[in-house]
Amino acid sequence: MAEKTGRCMCGAVSFTAQGTLDRFNICACDMCRRVTGSQFFSVWLRMDDVDMTGAEHIRTLQSSDWAERAFCGKCGSALWYRPTDNSDGVGLSLGLFDDIAGLEADNHWYTDKEICRTVKLAPAHTMTEAETHAQFGGGAV
Ligand SMILES: [Zn+2]
Ligand SMILES: [Zn+2]
Repeated sequence: MAEKTGRCMCGAVSFTAQGTLDRFNICACDMCRRVTGSQFFSVWLRMDDVDMTGAEHIRTLQSSDWAERAFCGKCGSALWYRPTDNSDGVGLSLGLFDDIAGLEADNHWYTDKEICRTVKLAPAHTMTEAETHAQFGGGAV
């Protein structure tokens, strides 16, 4: 079983996850767009396989009749989507993981709602991390 670590933006919430960590799902529904600003990329795991620290900072919201979403109460990072039907499955946000190299997309839901289908995603200007730091300074934006 693979193991990966991750954390929210501010580090108040961190985790070690075990399980099948080579695939992720993408959801472009309206709720995921609003929560993330784009699409929700998540790794589907068993909640029992996620060892979470900083639980006192986790805020949950019942976002529908069947699911909750969780956030870091300090920095607002989206943490997970989880059905509340007694299953222990959780879609843990891909963006939290320290190392996502090599992961492959599995399911992509609501593809007709993708932002790239509704706005023009062909930037006039592009910059790498180094180029962005050179222009705006610092290592954090
Ligand atoms: Zn945080
Ligand atoms: Zn969604």
